[in-house]
Amino acid sequence: MNFITDNNYDLIVIGGGPAGMMAAGRAGERERNVILLEKTDSLGKKLLLCASGRCNVTNTVPIHAFLEAYGKGGNFLRTAVQVFDNERLRSFLLTYGVETIVENKGRVFPKDQNANSILKAIKDYMHDNRVRILTNTNVLKLITKNNTVAGVETNQGSFSGRNVLIATGGLSYPGTGSTGDGYKLASFAGHTITPTYPAIIAFETLETWVISVQGTPIKNARITAFQSNKIISEHFGEALFTHYGISGPAILDMSKQLVEHIKDGQLKIHIDFKPSHTAEKLDKVFVNQLKRHGGKTIKSSLTFFIPEKLCYVLLNICKIDSSKKSSQITIQERRKLLRQLKGLQLTLVRHRPIDEAIVTAGGVNLDEIDAKTMESKLLKGLYFAGEVLDVDAPTGGFNLQAAFSTGYLAGNSIS
Ligand SMILES: Cc1cc2nc3c(=O)[nH]c(=O)nc-3n(C[C@H](O)[C@H](O)[C@H](O)COP(=O)(O)OP(=O)(O)OC[C@H]3O[C@@H](n4cnc5c(N)ncnc54)[C@H](O)[C@@H]3O)c2cc1C
Repeated sequence: MNFITDNNYDLIVIGGGPAGMMAAGRAGERERNVILLEKTDSLGKKLLLCASGRCNVTNTVPIHAFLEAYGKGGNFLRTAVQVFDNERLRSFLLTYGVETIVENKGRVFPKDQNANSILKAIKDYMHDNRVRILTNTNVLKLITKNNTVAGVETNQGSFSGRNVLIATGGLSYPGTGSTGDGYKLASFAGHTITPTYPAIIAFETLETWVISVQGTPIKNARITAFQSNKIISEHFGEALFTHYGISGPAILDMSKQLVEHIKDGQLKIHIDFKPSHTAEKLDKVFVNQLKRHGGKTIKSSLTFFIPEKLCYVLLNICKIDSSKKSSQITIQERRKLLRQLKGLQLTLVRHRPIDEAIVTAGGVNLDEIDAKTMESKLLKGLYFAGEVLDVDAPTGGFNLQAAFSTGYLAGNSIS
């Protein structure tokens, strides 16, 4: 192995994700001598996976709604998001030739729908500002001297520097390099790690019939989660059946709360397929449907309300033969079906593993970091940015914005 001892960097950045790259670029722009160390063979692996390669890079909601999306982390992020907000991110991207567009719910994407454009922009930013980049360089340890950071030890040798930024991401999708190394490095410096768990994650269900409807989306539904008859969370939107249970945007957005409760026992979810109709109104529409299509099977009448594959599931739950004619459906059978249309029940038994989460909740304790600079309050010269921090938000571009904003603020702050 070719061991290097490399000295005198103003900033050593650990991790080549969006947070680390932005910090490196900004510090370089301020004429600092910066090196970025990335343990995998390339930068931004997770960035390239974002929104299935389309990259939902930020959101256009106003600042107060932006900060609310991070829950308790919002207050901590205030300075970072003010210094480098969604508009600044978009104009930064434009400077590097990346036009962005706004889709539903304020979600911002590159106009060419290609995460590679975002990665190229930020790589160009680092290149323009003379950031030195080493891939295949795994940071193993922090070097400290007199309660000040002094450098890092890696599989390639040691590097000395006056400031070190930990931007190693969380625990999800470990194939992208995010394997929780930052928590160990932070603990070594005396930081506490708020327990980590998956946020934005799908769930396994007790009901095994889900496999027969895997890949079936349900649109415009109201999904209510209960534990011991108490409502835990309620969302309106789209869900998706999978071979193990349930996923889809509405479930993912509820998932953080559900994960927090599922450790206390199973959760029930009710799916209301027609939330805009009261039960009485829906019954009238149903009766009308059965009359108009009396000669057709009950299954074909039900397809007016739900996808075909789900019709079999509901008929099975109600113990109704799917080939029965609509005109032969009894009042009791109609009521049973109506109950399912207004509240198909699923039992959530566990969440999927953290490897599959979109983000990791928990992380480096925010109380121990100066929110105005991202510097550690415990070890001088040590900084943090991105998902390694105890900050997360639902889908919508908030997690990438947090990574870019905290990265920028750290790069802007190092002395
Ligand atoms: C499938 C998927 C889709 C997503 N889609 C979106 C989306 O559309 N919008 C959105 O806002 N968010 C999205 N996210 C979340 C977003 O990608 C992350 O929040 C963001 O990438 C975090 O950035 P980061 O720089 O903090 O960490 P990461 O992107 O995880 O980067 C950390 C880097 O540090 C490196 N590293 C780790 N340990 C070491 C070490 N010891 N030495 C050297 N290098 C190390 C890793 O190899 C990695 O390159 C998505 C996540 C996933 C998994």
